[in-house]
Amino acid sequence: MSDPRSILQSVFGFDAFRPGQAGIVDHILDGTPTLCVMPTGAGKSLCYQVPALLLDGPTIVVSPLTALMDDQVAALKANGVAAAAIHSGRMREDNVEDWRRFQAGEIKLLYLSPERLMTGRMLAALEPVAPALFVVDEAHCISKWGASFRPEYEQLAALRTRFPGARLAAFTATADAATREDIAAKLFGGGGEIVVHGFDRPNLFLGVEPKAKARAQLLDYLKDRRDVSGIVYCLSRKDTEAIAEVLVAEGYRALPYHAGLDAAVRRENQEIFMAESAVVMVATIAFGMGIDKPDIRYVVHLAMPGSMEAYYQEIGRAGRDGRPAEAMMFFGLSDARMRRQFIDQDGEDDAHKRREHKRLDALLAYCEATRCRRLALLAYFGETGGKPCGNCDVCVDPPQLVDGTREAQILMSAIVRTGQRFGAAHVIDVVRGADTEKIRERGHDQLPTWGVGADRPKPFWQGLVRQCLAGGFLELDIEGFGALKLTPSGDAVLKGRERLEIREITLSRQEKRRQKMT
Ligand code: ADP
Ligand code: ZN
Repeated sequence: MSDPRSILQSVFGFDAFRPGQAGIVDHILDGTPTLCVMPTGAGKSLCYQVPALLLDGPTIVVSPLTALMDDQVAALKANGVAAAAIHSGRMREDNVEDWRRFQAGEIKLLYLSPERLMTGRMLAALEPVAPALFVVDEAHCISKWGASFRPEYEQLAALRTRFPGARLAAFTATADAATREDIAAKLFGGGGEIVVHGFDRPNLFLGVEPKAKARAQLLDYLKDRRDVSGIVYCLSRKDTEAIAEVLVAEGYRALPYHAGLDAAVRRENQEIFMAESAVVMVATIAFGMGIDKPDIRYVVHLAMPGSMEAYYQEIGRAGRDGRPAEAMMFFGLSDARMRRQFIDQDGEDDAHKRREHKRLDALLAYCEATRCRRLALLAYFGETGGKPCGNCDVCVDPPQLVDGTREAQILMSAIVRTGQRFGAAHVIDVVRGADTEKIRERGHDQLPTWGVGADRPKPFWQGLVRQCLAGGFLELDIEGFGALKLTPSGDAVLKGRERLEIREITLSRQEKRRQKMT
């Protein structure tokens, strides 16, 4: 008789399970349908490969990409495990031979694409073999909530009823709460365990700063980081070149990188970045896939990424050597607005747009976090129960929280009285008593809230809107072209049933001077 730990050591040659792995292995062996969410590189494969070797009967692994299957099979074979992949990229004879071996009970793990598995013929052929375990890799593909829905994954929902005696496990690296629940509902019929592990990167310092003058802020940030390498992410190709130029003029070894550059230039810049020790790569998101430079000390975002998943992936490139590294984002409301426009214009259906807006909201909430940023990040990925990290800007320098109830009520009252049909710009105009054509036309200057908030500058109200959105007191009505609406907790604040604490919205020095003058 063997146990998971001895398999881990004797077959895979590792001393111990990583945190989380052993628990997942146990769940699978117990027969609990298990969805495991772990970031790339955390070691998902072992979590099903170890049980596969302990169970009677073969394991079927469903994987969307033939290249992934081939890698896994090669790695397993190198460890002496009888594994095979059957797919259209292989010679027919090889597929036939492996299928024969599988039916003869000589293969422990068989990798298949969902479309090959879910044919009537394949399912019928598998029944007498009685697989012990079905593993769905890249399980987020089953969910329309995920970023990469694949229709052929949807049919996998039938496995549960078709093979009631087999265990089920699913794996993914990216799944927000809605996606996770959706995967479990589809594959397991609702039950089962969801295990989230390994998202924390404790050596990464997390910071977000409001964006005022991005270039000056960047130069200030880099000033003490001249002798290390990092990545500065920009939104557009044009920006990467302009910022790289600014940095070069300041004496940095800075290189641009984006998909519009000549392939030879891209390759050269990447090689320099990999080889030298103090290079700033100023890049669009085109840069990063497959970059494994262990000593990237910082990742700066000059513009807000499109989602929490994207942000997590991009900052994850820093500090792979485990030594201290930093993730710094400069963030402004205009970025968020631009991201919303991207979503609205992406040509997808409304349901898709709503989901993407929600993902963006999560990132906004992270930017406006009033408590430990790492806890906010981990909570998004489903890892809860940790303590404040002490290694983020909020932990190190907690924001002053002040009572913002009265101001929020002014804002919310303006939103309600204008029918919850207007975006932030117009509502703030109303609150501040602006005299615009839109206001006059609609008679909004006759509202009791018109001008009540004139004593506060525009940035204050913008900051308040952001925090109310981040805190779930307001939401954006997507169908209503980004109109602000009250949520139930916003309503509670308006009616005085709940109070609202906000970050003290600090005005820039310039802003204060201007205020004094007027
Ligand atoms: P994922 O599928 O989550 O992206 P992999 O399963 O490919 O990650 O594992 C990433 C790397 O970590 C692999 O090289 C794997 O061999 C290694 N690894 C996984 N588990 C352990 C462990 N318990 N001890 C040491 N190395 C491990
Ligand atoms: Zn923290």
